[in-house]
Amino acid sequence: MVSRSTSTLIPSTAAPVSGHHRQSRSRDELIRLIGNTPLLRITSLEPHGKVEVYAKAEWANPGGSVKDRAALAMMTAGEQSGELTHEKILIDATSGNTGIAYAMLGAVMGYRVTLVMPANASQTRQQIVAAYGAEVILTDPLGGMDAAIEQVQQLVAADPERYFYPDQYSNPNNWQAHYRTTGEEIFHQTEGKVTHFVAGLGTTGTFVGAGRRLKAYNPDIQLIGMQPDAPLHGLEGLKHLESVRVPEIYDDQLADRQLAVSTEDAHEMALRLAREEGLLLGPSAAAAAVAAERMAQEVASGVIVTVFPDNASKYLDEPFWEL
Ligand code: PMP
Repeated sequence: MVSRSTSTLIPSTAAPVSGHHRQSRSRDELIRLIGNTPLLRITSLEPHGKVEVYAKAEWANPGGSVKDRAALAMMTAGEQSGELTHEKILIDATSGNTGIAYAMLGAVMGYRVTLVMPANASQTRQQIVAAYGAEVILTDPLGGMDAAIEQVQQLVAADPERYFYPDQYSNPNNWQAHYRTTGEEIFHQTEGKVTHFVAGLGTTGTFVGAGRRLKAYNPDIQLIGMQPDAPLHGLEGLKHLESVRVPEIYDDQLADRQLAVSTEDAHEMALRLAREEGLLLGPSAAAAAVAAERMAQEVASGVIVTVFPDNASKYLDEPFWEL
C-alpha cells in the first residue's frame, strides 16, 4: 500500500508567501496523492461468471472525491497561463466536491478561495470548505445554483482583475484531466480488457474525458452515460440534462447509450453495497453501481468499469441509511 499520510499538509492559515519553501514541498506531497485510485472488483454486481464489474474508488483522493483531479488541472492550467496568480482570489459557484477540492488545493498552493453557494447547501460541505480556510458566500436558496452562478458572474464582472474564475462547466481542463488520468488508469488497470465504461453525468468531465481516452484506445469500448431519471432527484453531483443547461464541455455524440437511474434505486443499492461489499458509497456512486449492474445483466460477456465519485461520509445524515 502506498502511504496516504497527509501530515505534510500545511494549515490553511499559513502565510502563502513566507512559507514558500515548505509550501512547494507540501504541495507536491499532496498532489502526488491525487489520482491513481484503486480499481475495485465488485463481484456482487456480476450476474454470472462471464462478466466482471469494477469501480474506481475516487474517495481515495485526498479531498475525498473525483473532483480533486479536475480542480488540480484547472488550477495548474491557470498558473501556467498566468490567469491564476497569488494576488487573485479563486472564485466559483459550487456547493459540492469541486469546492472542497479548490479549498484543499488553495490551502496547500497558497491561493485565496471564495465559494458561492445557495444558503441551503449542506452544512457538512460548508463546514469542510470553511475548515480549509475558504470564504463562503451564501445566496438566496430559492434561486438555487443559478443564483450562485449569477452572483459569481457579477463579482467577477465588477472587478475582473481580482478573480480567477475556473468555471468547471466550460473549462476544457476539466475533461482533459480525466483524459490524461482517469481514462488512462482504467485502460491500464484492466490491462486493456475494459469493454464498457459507465459514468454519471454532472459537469460531464469524467464521462467526456475518460470516455474519449478509452475510445481513442479502442473504438469498440462502449460508453454509457448515466443520469437521474427526473429533474428533482437526490443524486448529489449529477444532472438531469434534459431539464438543465447542458454543460459546454458535454459532447452529445460520445455516448453509445444513456441510462436513467432513480434516487430510490440508488438508495437501495447504497444499502446493499454497504452490507454486501463493505462499501459506504455516496448516492451518485450507488447510482453508478445500479447502471453498471444493468449493463452487466444485459451483456453476454465483458469487463464493465464505472466510477464511484465519493463515499458516504458527507451524506450520512440522509434518512435513507435508516431504512
Ligand atoms: N458525483 C459526485 C458526488 C460529484 O461531486 C460529481 C461532480 N459534479 C459527479 C458525480 C459528476 O462528475 P462530473 O462533474 O465529472 O460529471
